[in-house]
Amino acid sequence: MRTQVAIVGSGPSGLLLGQLLAGIGVETIILERSSREHVVGRVRAGVLEQGTVELLEEAGVAARLHAEGLPHSGISLAFDGRLHRIDLAALTGGKHVTVYGQTEVTHDLMDKREAAGLVTVYEAANVALHDFDGAAPFVTYDDKDGVSHRIDCDFIAGCDGYHGVSRKSVPERALKTFERQYPFGWLGVLAEVPPADHELVYANHERGFALCSMRSTHRSRYYVQCPQDDRVEAWSDDRFWDELRRRLPERTAASVTTGPSFEKSIAPLRSFVAEPMRFGRLFLVGDAAHIVPPTGAKGLNLAASDVRYLFAGLREFYVGKSQAGIEAYSQKALARVWKAVRFSWWMTTMLHRFPDTGDFGQRIQEAELDYLVHSQAASTALAENYVGLPY
Ligand SMILES: Cc1cc2nc3c(=O)[nH]c(=O)nc-3n(C[C@H](O)[C@H](O)[C@H](O)COP(=O)(O)OP(=O)(O)OC[C@H]3O[C@@H](n4cnc5c(N)ncnc54)[C@H](O)[C@@H]3O)c2cc1C
Repeated sequence: MRTQVAIVGSGPSGLLLGQLLAGIGVETIILERSSREHVVGRVRAGVLEQGTVELLEEAGVAARLHAEGLPHSGISLAFDGRLHRIDLAALTGGKHVTVYGQTEVTHDLMDKREAAGLVTVYEAANVALHDFDGAAPFVTYDDKDGVSHRIDCDFIAGCDGYHGVSRKSVPERALKTFERQYPFGWLGVLAEVPPADHELVYANHERGFALCSMRSTHRSRYYVQCPQDDRVEAWSDDRFWDELRRRLPERTAASVTTGPSFEKSIAPLRSFVAEPMRFGRLFLVGDAAHIVPPTGAKGLNLAASDVRYLFAGLREFYVGKSQAGIEAYSQKALARVWKAVRFSWWMTTMLHRFPDTGDFGQRIQEAELDYLVHSQAASTALAENYVGLPY
């Protein structure tokens, strides 16, 4: 087989890149290790920056997002027993974020790809990347019947997440990695109940961080900070709801509608960046190159921002006949990645209880939060980063 761009991974970055390239007549084949049902069933991110929404519009997959997504013009920080609202729109000249689940984004992109008859190979095993340091790269894989295939291509886009094969295919000496592990995780619960507040609430509390989020007006997503080695089985629904309410201001806690959870999971928190993001004709995109703790709601948005830069570079290559865009990809993408890594690290540090936080650390966090909500300059810095920095 031959295609122009072989894409490894059908998460949001692979699917979105494929859709944008289809729009300018560039052929792609997506190779995905898991089944379609597995990919579309994964519960992950839910807050989209305006730039991400614009890119989904450009890809022609924003109709349902506009019909069902919830535009949010603010968030609240909870500390000292009260909610303090950050007016994102007022502080950023009218910008907002949109609450729309990653599951729905993936659904929309898959439906569009299938309707256009574009090829995705699910359950592709043993995907291997070859000769991307030369002019004629190719990818091999085994299909679900065990038959081996080879795809020759111009470029390979490694959109296969943190555990994928793309980054691992790069010789270790060519990569520099940066990592920070946080000494806790997030226990997340999804329940078919109306959210406690109409906007997201980020809570700093002596017992640990909590987040009230949502996927729609009738589906809530809540998180509490938990020990890194905690187990989901140790958390009954009742224990979760009790712990969540203890970490929220009284009025917000009273607004929490409880109900049976239908998804419960623990995610570790880490920051990770691999540099550079291009090796000859291989590009690393999204979680394949970087991971951020979810506190800043940046993971999915960063994947989309990489796609924006790579799409611009490939368009310049195929339409403008220039290599300049693909040569600049890594540098441009990383400049934005590091700003989001910093923001996510800062939000995490300010809002969580660390093993060495103690009474002193707790007071420092409260002082920082108090300054943040009362200083227009500090609130603006948070708002600008939260809605997404310029490209
Ligand atoms: C549990 C969890 C919760 C999260 N919560 C949030 C959140 O609340 N807010 C937020 O902003 N972000 C969150 N994120 C991050 C966000 O979901 C990711 O940043 C986003 O999914 C990145 O998209 P991606 O397409 O780059 O990678 P992925 O979504 O990871 O997609 C990669 C795809 O590649 C496939 N793949 C892997 N290896 C291979 C291989 N060898 N061959 C072929 N295919 C392969 C995988 O099956 C997968 O489908 C969360 C992530 C996780 C894991």
